[in-house]
Amino acid sequence: MQLEAVIGLETHIELSTKSKMFCSCSTDFGAKPNHHTCPVCLALPGALPVMNKQTVEYGIKLALALGCSIHSVSRFDRKQYFYPDLPKGYQISQYEYPAFTGGTVMLSGDRKINLTRIHIEEDAGKNIHGAGADNHSYVDLNRAGVPLLEMVTEPEIRTPEEASEFLRRIRQIVRYLRISDGNMEQGSLRCDANISLRPKSSGKLGKKVEIKNINSFKHVEKALKFEIKRQRDLILGGGTITQETRLFNAHESVTYAMRSKEDSFEYRYFPEPDLPLLNIAEEWIRKVSETIPELPDEKRRRFAEQYGITDYDAGVLTDLSELADYYEACCKKGRNSAQIAHLISTELLAITKKTGMEFSAVKPEYVARISDLIDENLISIKIAKQLFPLLFETRDDPDNIIKTKGLIQISDSSEIEKIIESILEGNKGNVEKFKAGKTKILGFFVGQVMKETKGKANPKLVNRILIEKLSAVSDEFDG
Ligand SMILES: [Zn+2]
Repeated sequence: MQLEAVIGLETHIELSTKSKMFCSCSTDFGAKPNHHTCPVCLALPGALPVMNKQTVEYGIKLALALGCSIHSVSRFDRKQYFYPDLPKGYQISQYEYPAFTGGTVMLSGDRKINLTRIHIEEDAGKNIHGAGADNHSYVDLNRAGVPLLEMVTEPEIRTPEEASEFLRRIRQIVRYLRISDGNMEQGSLRCDANISLRPKSSGKLGKKVEIKNINSFKHVEKALKFEIKRQRDLILGGGTITQETRLFNAHESVTYAMRSKEDSFEYRYFPEPDLPLLNIAEEWIRKVSETIPELPDEKRRRFAEQYGITDYDAGVLTDLSELADYYEACCKKGRNSAQIAHLISTELLAITKKTGMEFSAVKPEYVARISDLIDENLISIKIAKQLFPLLFETRDDPDNIIKTKGLIQISDSSEIEKIIESILEGNKGNVEKFKAGKTKILGFFVGQVMKETKGKANPKLVNRILIEKLSAVSDEFDG
């Protein structure tokens, strides 16, 4: 029996508003525990919520970017459950009438994932267990009342890789829109995954298992892979799936049961009496729509077209809007936009990845200048590779670095000839091999010349002279 996975994701996006959803407390991450609290988010008697307009505006932005329907009237509801990190004893959320429904997220290969809804809700605080010398449990309410958008997909995701790509796309879009930092380590983006298996081409849904609180792209993939295998083994072994909530253990890469459906919470939703209905007028939507920037998919297509770069480079360069802006600034200063794209996506980003330094530490005109120097045949790609780390180290401009480090290219053919002659002299065995028809050995000689000149020999000249010299000895041999 061929089984396929049916996956749906509920993604929580913590919004980067300055203040919380219903009070003026700061949303800054990393403050001392319970530092950002007030009577409203501590749920003291008599404190009343007042809606933060920016929260709704950020919701409208995301809804516009993903093509959701924006409802002119929506409602807040109370979701009742008791946890120490939820001091009111309920969470203010949207249940029956969410602000946004529908919409799509595009994955690679034109895969389209439809959304069910996006609603607005508040975050809970954090329980910290076994902390301190006394091994007690503590509650930190700094996060209580921070605004969230919860996005629910249709069960249309088919593989763990698609689930992780979906989350990456969401992170990219919320960063482009500047409505969330999308930081998974700090919990700004986290998800619950629903998964069931069914015979391929069956339209029915199997019993689903929910995996709660996954907080990294890798964990999503690992948790779903484990769960697919567990459910497949169970079904093929004649067992049945229990509908339940499970947690992912990152150390062992396994999921384990948290609670079964029998004892799952009954949330007893009811309309939030302390807040009016949420009205979103056409005029407001129109104003917000004017602030939507060019989004990643559009930008990627434009880059490939306008700058004549590969889809791969366009994808890398538009990953972050700041990087896309940086690339365009380089193109304004340099001539060869495809070469600039390549230099950034290989050399520049390799260094930022390795060292954690910001790409913006190097001025765009310096990258453009290196590209122009390659085009003018004044430096080789090899030298360019040496220049990039020096740009970060010295913050100096490439021309100065080339001068002070003596990296200028050797384009004097008599000098190169001399070097080549001595290399041929010292590698007679390989010359014989070349004569015998092993023309691939040319690469070996090029490598030797570059080694000898520390990469400074003009590669075009090296190739030309090498071929001349080697065919001359071949002719001698033939004659
Ligand atoms: Zn507060």
